Amino acid sequence: WDMTYDVVVVGGGFAGLAAAYSAVENGAETLLIDKMPVLGGNSQINGGVYASYTSNIADDMYAKLGLEPDTAEKHIEDTIIGGDYMGDVKLVRNLVYGAPFFLNMMLDNGLEVRESITRPGGHYGYRTYTTINGVGADIVQVQKKMLEATDATIMLNTKMTRIFREGGEAGRVVGIEVETKDGVKTVKAENGVILATGGFSGNVEMRSKHVPALTADIPTTNHVGATGEGIIMAQEVGANTIQMSYIQLYPFANPNNGVLDAYAVIPFSGPSSGIVYVDENGQRYVNEGERRDVCSRAAQESGGFPTFSIFGQEIVDKGGFIAETQLTNGMKDDRIFKADSLEELAQIISDHQYAGNTINMTGQTLKETIQRHNEFVENGSDPEFGKVIDKGVMMKIDKGPYYAIPQWPSVHHTMGGLTITERTEVQDIWGEVIPGLYAAGEVTGGVHGTNRLGSNAIPDAAVHGYIAGQVAVTGNVPDF
Ligand code: ADP
Repeated sequence: WDMTYDVVVVGGGFAGLAAAYSAVENGAETLLIDKMPVLGGNSQINGGVYASYTSNIADDMYAKLGLEPDTAEKHIEDTIIGGDYMGDVKLVRNLVYGAPFFLNMMLDNGLEVRESITRPGGHYGYRTYTTINGVGADIVQVQKKMLEATDATIMLNTKMTRIFREGGEAGRVVGIEVETKDGVKTVKAENGVILATGGFSGNVEMRSKHVPALTADIPTTNHVGATGEGIIMAQEVGANTIQMSYIQLYPFANPNNGVLDAYAVIPFSGPSSGIVYVDENGQRYVNEGERRDVCSRAAQESGGFPTFSIFGQEIVDKGGFIAETQLTNGMKDDRIFKADSLEELAQIISDHQYAGNTINMTGQTLKETIQRHNEFVENGSDPEFGKVIDKGVMMKIDKGPYYAIPQWPSVHHTMGGLTITERTEVQDIWGEVIPGLYAAGEVTGGVHGTNRLGSNAIPDAAVHGYIAGQVAVTGNVPDF
């Protein structure tokens, strides 16, 4: 062996950073590697939204915002229903009960969040926090700072190329092979290897093998490192996978390149506050409070390209949903359009090109759509698409200026992956635990079922990472 550690963590996103920190906290000599030149993976470019039924700042926030507090049971229920009952309830319970623990840890270490708790698509309780800049990097920075303050070793530009498992069916995972700028090295892991290598949205061959429609011409929100080889290497030592064909599209990505930029988070955080989605004709096409898979499919079936989020000055003035910089930068980048009337807004929309296409939205139609939606908000029910309208929370789009953000689905999250126990132990195809091999985050499968609810990804990755670090060292699960 070229190197020896107690715990070796592969991948430096939410899951890997949490796993390494927890391993160190439990006394392990820990190595974290990432193949990329920077830490953060997809987590860095994630939308920075975090579902947690409570937190140390929850009481103040709910009181100030005039919202109903949430419960763990409701979060579990929404998550299970949002994945069509295909998620593993034991893993969902980890996510839900561990979410406040990790959020509080981040807040205690300097994470800043906006003054809002939202109810994005598929959630029926107010439980979603947004980081100050609306990007996952805000959390990664805190995790990174915390890990760097420990004696953990971090190696970047270091790629796992193989997992070593001792012979025999009960054989243990004993280490990994890595490629570094100084050549190929072997690393021994006395206690265990934790895989936190993320999903495979960026691997066209792998994703289209499971979902043939996801061909190369469909863009992805993911970073270039989301190629899924961690899953394949684990399979080579006997690991099982689950629900590999459940792949989620993010419905509000930039229609020109599929990127989930800071502006693409606004349509997601705001539907329950009064953001309306319209098709290229200016008509609603979906219940805005729906899950991502439903919103994506409805957009694809709307008959045109792209779709738009429409909102008014009310949401901007209320604060919390949209950062001032997000709005001004969005207009500078021509990602957010602003106009004094809805007619003018429709004109600006029609004056733009979207991946080379033009559209023709009439101001009259857009105005009628928004007026009708305003009546629904006033009456507290949406007979057109059945959106749940919380009176007093959801705002009308009455007062100009008005805003529009173009949006279109892009491959986002692979719900399938390695099969794990609730202790994050990787299982083989017979359901037996592979000793010494753990996994957390998007590399795993079975947590979310058919569809991951927005803002459930960070708590999933971070909490399971945290569990993995502790179980690998002590054999015990943390008490959240
Ligand atoms: P999660 O949210 O589950 O933590 P991310 O995508 O944020 O997932 O992080 C996964 C990290 O794993 C990325 O930074 C990626 O570069 C890294 N990674 C993926 N495959 C390998 C590999 N073979 N060797 C080392 N690092 C890897």
